[in-house]
Amino acid sequence: MPELPEVEVTRRGIAAPLTGRVATAVTLRNAQLRWPVPADLPATLPGQTLRDIDRRAKYLLLRFDRGTLILHLGMSGSLRVLDRDVPAATHDHVDIVFGDRVLRLRDPRRFGAVLWHEGADATHPLLAGLGPEPLGEDFSAAGLHAALTRRQCAIKLAIMDSAVVVGVGNIYASESLFRARLRPGMAAQRLTRPQCARLYDEIRATLRDALDAGGSTLRDFMHADGEPGYFQQSYFVYGRDGQPCRVCGTAVRNRRMGGRSTFFCPTCQR
Ligand code: ZN
Repeated sequence: MPELPEVEVTRRGIAAPLTGRVATAVTLRNAQLRWPVPADLPATLPGQTLRDIDRRAKYLLLRFDRGTLILHLGMSGSLRVLDRDVPAATHDHVDIVFGDRVLRLRDPRRFGAVLWHEGADATHPLLAGLGPEPLGEDFSAAGLHAALTRRQCAIKLAIMDSAVVVGVGNIYASESLFRARLRPGMAAQRLTRPQCARLYDEIRATLRDALDAGGSTLRDFMHADGEPGYFQQSYFVYGRDGQPCRVCGTAVRNRRMGGRSTFFCPTCQR
């Protein structure tokens, strides 16, 4: 599943070749994504200039003259910028054409989204109520502590709650907690201020490291045949069930929490 770093690298990858271009056509091969793609999009978009591309949580916000195209990659989506005459393959559901270029959404599992919104971001139900961006200025250790003391759930579930902070998915929750030396199952409201400051630092550092690792995949967005796969990174605990901890050698454990695999080192994390 694309997580925040992949979405941010996607944003950078498509912004460079497309910003300032005019949309000339929209092709909907399959409009049945997580929500139906608006049927009038092929009439709405052509003639409008793509002014900018922002990101909020894992939503890409393509700013056109009269509104915002909201894109979400869901479980399996990817976006590429291709020459217009590159034939579409299976699962290439939506094309936004910009003259001789095309922005193509491939989404085998169809949990992604392509929606049109006119008006302020906060007036859209998917964007209203989102917490601070983890790498933004609105996110602070003190703010995180205040949000956590109001929650009775496990710390891992709390930091994956988009009302607390957006874009911390399953991989980065496990990795941040390992780096902050905190057990994923500890009660969020029991976190001390120093522990919270550590967690805050490590959430940001973990995401920054992933962004740095992903920067090298940018060129793939321009390739006709390149699969913009998700980053292959070296994780401390994620996906390493039973393997030795990279710090102390203890076997990494996997425990289900909130229906998701949760990896931790029982020695390093207390
Ligand atoms: Zn360890």
